[in-house]
Amino acid sequence: MGKLDGRVVLISGAARGQGEQEARLFVEEGAKVVVADVLDDQGEALAKEIGARYVHLDVGREDDWQAAVTVAKDAYGHIDGLVNNAGILRFNDLVGTPLAEFQQIVQVNQVGVFLGIKTVAPEIEAAGGGTIVNTASYAGLTGMAYVGAYTATKHAIVGLTRVAALELAAKKIRVNAVCPGAIDTAMSNPSQLDPGADPEETARALSELYGRLVPLGRIGRPEEVARLALFLSGEDSSYITGQPFVIDGGWLAGVSVI
Ligand code: NAD
Repeated sequence: MGKLDGRVVLISGAARGQGEQEARLFVEEGAKVVVADVLDDQGEALAKEIGARYVHLDVGREDDWQAAVTVAKDAYGHIDGLVNNAGILRFNDLVGTPLAEFQQIVQVNQVGVFLGIKTVAPEIEAAGGGTIVNTASYAGLTGMAYVGAYTATKHAIVGLTRVAALELAAKKIRVNAVCPGAIDTAMSNPSQLDPGADPEETARALSELYGRLVPLGRIGRPEEVARLALFLSGEDSSYITGQPFVIDGGWLAGVSVI
């Protein structure tokens, strides 16, 4: 028996990184998965490999969400799970951030989660209930310099999660958020996208940085976040809704002065 037998889950931003690992784990646990992303070649290849469906979805576009729901229902009959995972990060100081850059980050990270909830929650209700997992961040619960727009959107996702949990509980929909610290994907480790990068040098730099910042002494793995998303999507979390779950190796626990 899989933990998600009979479930149909759409995962946004699932062509790579945390979303990819969530798609792999959810399929292993018996779910029918819709892999949704703007990286069509990678998304198609992953879906083919794991026996999922791929759909092109720019999470900031409402018509894309409606089309994705249609694809999911045509393929699998219903949807009863959503992982709002897609997100983008840009480094800039607040004063130097162009308005267009701020708005682009809001459009993907924040409007994307809003549209996902708005479009998919009625489908989950029609299916008799289910779950939504929103991907916030460590930066959704505390400040992080030079990623102001990103941090603002991740705080907003925690707020949206709480309100959605309140409004959707009566419809048998639980809504929670994952708040990862530094996770070893292209977002925190752009060398993954650089064919010329030296893996040993990258590992040394990551180990030096996160060994210093994170109590558990290392960067997180996307598979670890996928297991948290599985917990929040399955029956093991049946009495939990409206909560942000930090998965950060202890980074947010505090600082050590010695
Ligand atoms: P990633 O960059 O590997 O994955 C992000 C995915 O989102 C990519 O597949 C990308 O194509 C997709 N995406 C980007 N814009 C999109 C759009 N408009 N519509 C649909 N898909 C889009 O990084 P990741 O670490 O796997 O990121 C997953 C989520 O985790 C993001 O929301 C990110 O903010 C969050 N997060 C990451 C970290 C980290 O350290 N990696 C930490 C905290 C939170």
